[in-house]
Amino acid sequence: SLPTVAIVGRPNVGKSTLFNRLVGKRLALVDDRPGVTRDRREGEAHLLGLDFRIMDTAGYEDEDPDSLPGRMRRQTQAAIDEADVALFMIDARAGIVPLDEEIARWLRGSSTPVVLVANKAEGRAGEQGILESLALGFGDPVQLSAEHGEGVADLFEALLPHL
Ligand code: GDP
Ligand code: MG
Repeated sequence: SLPTVAIVGRPNVGKSTLFNRLVGKRLALVDDRPGVTRDRREGEAHLLGLDFRIMDTAGYEDEDPDSLPGRMRRQTQAAIDEADVALFMIDARAGIVPLDEEIARWLRGSSTPVVLVANKAEGRAGEQGILESLALGFGDPVQLSAEHGEGVADLFEALLPHL
């Protein structure tokens, strides 16, 4: 079976944009049963000749943005436990917010390897956020623009040792 990557991060950082870019039309599973698995999409990703299973975690857009609700925690924890590597995405333009720090703390407690990804890094607006992200403790982030397709080769290089 294919190695598995989970994209985790707070709402609106660009997780689904990356998922859609990597999976395109090859969506393996969309389950929209309300409240059950609508939060989770998986598909087969292709990245520069590398094939893997990818999970997009979502569905907490309605929740309080300043806390990590139980549903998000459970769903993301399940995805991380299943994954060979977690892509932890932050928004380089918005910078690091408390919810990013909370997710980081909890990823540090997991045995799943973490690749930090600073999305929305096109142009210069992300420079401050990229610096701030160093304090999360996962090393230099992969600088990505999921929307513009920039940084894909760097993402490939960061994932390769884990897949
Ligand atoms: P999610 O909630 O983490 O799944 O985030 P989405 O993929 O839904 O994206 C949230 C918003 O960020 C959308 O308006 C996207 O168009 C935007 N976005 C995603 N990737 C990028 C990027 O690389 N650069 C910029 N500037 N915006 C992006
Ligand atoms: Mg999403």
